Amino acid sequence: MKKIAYFDAGIITPEEILIAADLVPIRLLGNPNIGIDKANEHIPPTHCVWARNILEQAIEGLDSDIKGVIVTHGCDCTNREFDIWLECVDLDFMFFLNAPLKRDKTSLKFFVKDIKELITQLEEHFNVNITNEKIIEAIKLMNKIRNLLKEISEYRSKMTLKGSEFHHIVKNVQQKDKKEALKMLEDKLEEIKTRTPFTDKNLKKIFLTGSVIDDTEFIKFLESLGYQIVQDDLCIGTRYFWINVDETEKPIKALAKYHLSKPIYSTKVPSQKRFDFVKELAAKYNVDGVVNIAQKFCEPILYDHPFMAKKFKELKNPIPYLFIEMEYNRESYKQLATRFEAFAEII
Ligand code: SF4
Repeated sequence: MKKIAYFDAGIITPEEILIAADLVPIRLLGNPNIGIDKANEHIPPTHCVWARNILEQAIEGLDSDIKGVIVTHGCDCTNREFDIWLECVDLDFMFFLNAPLKRDKTSLKFFVKDIKELITQLEEHFNVNITNEKIIEAIKLMNKIRNLLKEISEYRSKMTLKGSEFHHIVKNVQQKDKKEALKMLEDKLEEIKTRTPFTDKNLKKIFLTGSVIDDTEFIKFLESLGYQIVQDDLCIGTRYFWINVDETEKPIKALAKYHLSKPIYSTKVPSQKRFDFVKELAAKYNVDGVVNIAQKFCEPILYDHPFMAKKFKELKNPIPYLFIEMEYNRESYKQLATRFEAFAEII
């Protein structure tokens, strides 16, 4: 089956449209084990390290089953990178999906129009017919997946599912045929229900937020220091499944509305809404602290950090907050151990 990759910092690509076109949506993720020399020939080294990593893989050549890419408006880095992709990446189908920053009526109209343009171009290029019926079917499938992920995610706070295992599950869903993903999640849920809670009672419960954090080894590294991620607002996390698409609305409009109603990503505004969402969940899940991670040169998170730090401090019951900017390679994780250990001591 043909695959379409999407390069998307804010997880706003409507996968349902691709599924309805009988294509398999595959989210592009970084590889912390590679160098980024080729990407550095095109982009300054002060450009987001994660976005450069994806470009490097694309220049080297993606999986041969991947027949095209959709780059969706996330942050300015991903937007401008698309122009480089057009010149340097060898793929027949490339589409820039202009997901709006704002969430008002005009933005909704604009986004619906852009999704329709995506449909037209997919139909022409792949000689397929993307009908409303097929989109509705795909929405139902994805809603089932979202519901299962939401249910499974709760086992992190019940202390029977490690944050790293859950992170791996979400990544897997984003890179798999969705019917296979559904079966995998159904089986996983049944298996998790039979587990008993961890015996370690001293684990520090944290809420993880920040940039795209796609290396599960990083989550394992946090766990090795005594942390358990009980909740998050990441794109490989709750942002992928927190709400559902309305199955009663016209399907394209429902998809656009869905993506403009999800919890605000760090690349979007207003920051206050992002803070409110994190604060609400941090309180609900009774976390010991919030950890905000910026990939090196991730401007949206770097700009947001002073605001977040101030807001958590000003709360009536302040929530301990740690901000870390990190390199996208595994060797560098070890250098962060002291800061994480010090935070664990004060929470
Ligand atoms: S890590 Fe930050 S700068 Fe990089 S693509 Fe994601 S949001 Fe953009």
